[in-house]
Amino acid sequence: MNYSRGRRRNAAAIVRATCHTCGDVELTIEDVQVQFCVTTAQSTYSFVCPGCSLIVNKDANDAVVQSLTSAGARLVQWTMPAELDEPKTGPRISHDDLLEFHLLLESGEWERELAYRAANGY
Ligand SMILES: [Zn+2]
Repeated sequence: MNYSRGRRRNAAAIVRATCHTCGDVELTIEDVQVQFCVTTAQSTYSFVCPGCSLIVNKDANDAVVQSLTSAGARLVQWTMPAELDEPKTGPRISHDDLLEFHLLLESGEWERELAYRAANGY
């Protein structure tokens, strides 16, 4: 990943990045977002590939973060969800549980089933 200012006056910085599928692509700095996880102190950057329209997400070291944010990339801070720290009780979810849940979603009865299970201590 590197960037340079366009030659036109007021031109946005052009970012050259690599998509896993399309290879090297060019973006404007406004197309790039930097994410900083406060919980882990890890940074990544992401963009929607102009070739395949998939989101590309890559690790970013401090130099990449500094380079992108100083060029105008949006910086988003986030934290891991608190649910990760909650104690996990009960049996693990099995493939049968997933299949049953899938069938419930298709049947449209899942809200009633969920309420029934919650009321009966499942
Ligand atoms: Zn692509």
